[in-house]
Parts: sequence; C-alpha cells; structure tokens
Amino acid sequence: MSAEPNSSANRYEGVIQSLHQLHEKYKDCREGALATYIPELSHADPNWFGIALADVNGHVLEFGDSQIEFTIQSVSKPFIYGVALDALGRDEVLRLIGVEPSGDAFNSIEMQKGERPYNAMINPGAIVATSLIPGKTASEKVEHALHTLSEAAGRQLRIDENTYRSESETGHRNRAIGYFLRNLNLLDQNVDEVLEAYFRQCSVLVTARDLAMMGATLANMGTNPLTGRPVLGLETVRDVLSVMFTCGMYDFAGEWAFRVGMPAKSGVSGGLTAVVNRQFGIGTFSPLLDPMGNSVRGVRFCRDLAEAHGLHAFNFTNVGSRFIEATLGL
Ligand code: GLN
Repeated sequence: MSAEPNSSANRYEGVIQSLHQLHEKYKDCREGALATYIPELSHADPNWFGIALADVNGHVLEFGDSQIEFTIQSVSKPFIYGVALDALGRDEVLRLIGVEPSGDAFNSIEMQKGERPYNAMINPGAIVATSLIPGKTASEKVEHALHTLSEAAGRQLRIDENTYRSESETGHRNRAIGYFLRNLNLLDQNVDEVLEAYFRQCSVLVTARDLAMMGATLANMGTNPLTGRPVLGLETVRDVLSVMFTCGMYDFAGEWAFRVGMPAKSGVSGGLTAVVNRQFGIGTFSPLLDPMGNSVRGVRFCRDLAEAHGLHAFNFTNVGSRFIEATLGL
C-alpha cells in the first residue's frame, strides 16, 4: 500500500489516516462477485482495491491500487449526459431523457410512462445521451466523448479495444434497448453506430485517481482543478449532480442517498466516483460487485468516510459543505 500525498502532506494528516484505516479495514473483504456478462471483465483480479481523493485545488491522496487501469463503464454516463446537456440545452434533453429514478436494474428495458428513458444514469437514457454527442459518425462521437472524459480526468485517456470488442460481441441486450429507443423515435440515427459509440465510451481506461479527479472537476463547478480548463458548463454540472444524487447507484440509489448522501456513479467494472460539492471528488476501484452492480468495497468505503467526516449533504453538523476548512484547518 502506498500513500502518495503531495507537498502539502502535513496538512492532510487526518484525512490520510482515515483513508489508510478504511483501506486496511476493507482490503481483505472478499464479498461480492466479478461482472461476467461482459466476458473481458471476468479477468479482473478480485484483490484490486484502490482509493483516491482529489480536492478542488488539485491535491490528490491515493491508497492501494489507485493507478491500475480499468474500463470506466457506467461512470462515463454522468459526463456524457453533461456533453448532451451542454450541446442541446436542458429542455431538449429533458424531452428525450427523464430525471426520475427507475428503481430497477441498469440494463432494464423499460421506459417512464412508456415514453422516454427514466434517466441518463441507466442504459436506455445513456444510449440516448450518446446519440446526442455532437458528431455525425460513431468515430466523431467517440472522439468527442474521449476528449471530454480526458479533460475531466486531466490526462489523455484511451480505449481498451479488448473490452470494447468483448462488449460489442455480447451486447445484445443493449442492442435490444437501442432498437426499442429507435422504435419510440428517441433515436433518429443508425442504431448500430450509436451502440458502437456507447460501447467504446464504456471501454475508456481510467484509474481510481482519474475517477477522483473527474469527481473533483464536477465538485469544482465543471473546471478541472489541475488544468484549470472548463469541461462542462455551470448549469450542466448542477443538473448532472442532481441526477447522480437521485439515480447514480442503480436500484440502490435511494439507500445510497439516505446513508451516504453524495452524488455518485458506479460502473460494473468496479469503479465509483462520488462528489462532495465544491470540496472534492472521491474515486474508488474494486471489481467485486454486490447484486445491484455496485462495488462492495467502494460503497462501504464511501459510507464510512461520509460517516467519519460528516460528508452527507444533509448532515446536521453540515461539515460536508466546508470539509476542507474543517478537516484541514485551511
Ligand atoms: N457497458 C456496460 C453496459 O452497458 C455498462 C453498465 C454498467 O457499468 N452498469 O452493460
């Protein structure tokens, strides 16, 4: 295990201790199972466990396997939703994708009132959001998506071709969703092209550190704290965080909001990004999943960290809204 605090390490002692303790607490936890429906994901090492925290000043703390690359999967969804919102505006996107939790699995083939996807954090809404990425062809959309994800992470990301192929060869359920959306006139493009872009966007390689930085970009009102470059618009970030808060953790979203109280998004490869607004982003990676598809260790780590430091958005001490000053004495 390694703590890699930057030059302001001494200011972070209390937080480092907390992260260290929680990493120790859960590193031997073997509950949960690897995702296997995308064959390539079943090759993950169940021991992998990385955590990272990036604040809005660009300071990063990381423990364990925080630099191991894995495919982003559904953690791409809030950012692609953000791209769609920035490109088309809220009203047009709302016409096509709802903002209600579905209470069902991420790959469920169902629509809100039979009309439009429940939200953009589950597959039907995410596939519509991918179709709204500027660009005529799949490769133009993928380039745009990769650029946005890279800008949010603060480094150039790349696609894992093996995972892309693995999902494309087996992604029949997502194809069914795509054709259903086409039938409802929610996709006006070639369904296979849109799915190609969707599978590729899910196959972008990231680390827990990247996910923390991407969360920090949202916490920092859409501007990457390291590069200082804007990634998503102010109003878009508000909308994205709202939907992450209510819908980001699949059919665990309600309990997550209740217990942890942070906007967050998880993915089936075991990644999770959580946001303490205006303060910092959290990134975790552990591929063992609970039955709802959330990383077991990621969920427990965030729950304990939120409890230990009062990070729940509605914590009565309200420490979460001034975590950095309260904890670091800044
Ligand atoms: N690419 C995956 C899928 O569409 C993403 C799902 C997820 O991370 N929950 O099935």
